[in-house]
Amino acid sequence: MPNYDYLCNDCEHRFEAFQSITAEPLNSCPLCGGKIQRLLGSGGGLIFKGSGFYITDYKNQKKSSIHTT
Ligand SMILES: [Zn+2]
Repeated sequence: MPNYDYLCNDCEHRFEAFQSITAEPLNSCPLCGGKIQRLLGSGGGLIFKGSGFYITDYKNQKKSSIHTT
């Protein structure tokens, strides 16, 4: 499950949230309730766009038919 870095615009609290790829992004700070922004490309430098899951699928199923979607 991917984790996202968030930064609060109000109190500058930074935290990570583990969310499903389909979960809606958080929009409020757990400490002060202020607006937060999601930091992309931080931490491990991984950006999850869904294609990564496809690549994993492809490697695991290279002996069977390849999905074209
Ligand atoms: Zn905050």
